[in-house]
Amino acid sequence: MSEDSNSARLRRMAELRALYEGHVARFRAVVMQEPASLAREAHAEMEALLEQDRRQPGADAVRCTRGCSHCCHGPVEIRAHEAVLLVEQLQAAGRVLDVEKLARQSRYSVDTWREQPAADQACVFLGNDGACTVYDMRPNACRKLLVTSDPQHCDIPRGEYEKIERRFCWEAEMLESAALEVFGLQLMPLALRAALGGDR
Ligand code: SF4
Repeated sequence: MSEDSNSARLRRMAELRALYEGHVARFRAVVMQEPASLAREAHAEMEALLEQDRRQPGADAVRCTRGCSHCCHGPVEIRAHEAVLLVEQLQAAGRVLDVEKLARQSRYSVDTWREQPAADQACVFLGNDGACTVYDMRPNACRKLLVTSDPQHCDIPRGEYEKIERRFCWEAEMLESAALEVFGLQLMPLALRAALGGDR
């Protein structure tokens, strides 16, 4: 590696670390904020970062499209306040969550998720047409997952996961890493059940 590219790499790492630390400090200051508004702000911030990233070279290689839902059959980790936003919005719209499926999914971890019957591996919000039914309020974990390889590689259980290639928006990754540090993450079924009021 040339001296120039090495110093550019070090500059970039320092820039990302500063971003991360800034987010951590900011999140610690708002940790008591009303959960749904915290989630809305986090989603808006993520969208702004991803929008910026879409203008960068190579962004057009992302293959994710409406109806391609392979990643919606895997374990998704979200923040507690994102679950509160989802539950509040669904209840306001008179939509009923499949609490029995959530209870069944709650018995599985990230490592054992794929041991469930195939139908139960799908997110409770995945529509029959393969589209997300809560798209505007979907968690940041779903927003920042950008795949550039053939979508068939992501297919559960037939995929060839070692061939999956991702585009990383590092600014988005810093935002989510800082959120993990301050707010923690939970598997979606557990977070939704907690937001619903516990053991439902
Ligand atoms: S919330 Fe939507 S995008 Fe995220 S896993 Fe569920 S169906 Fe997929």
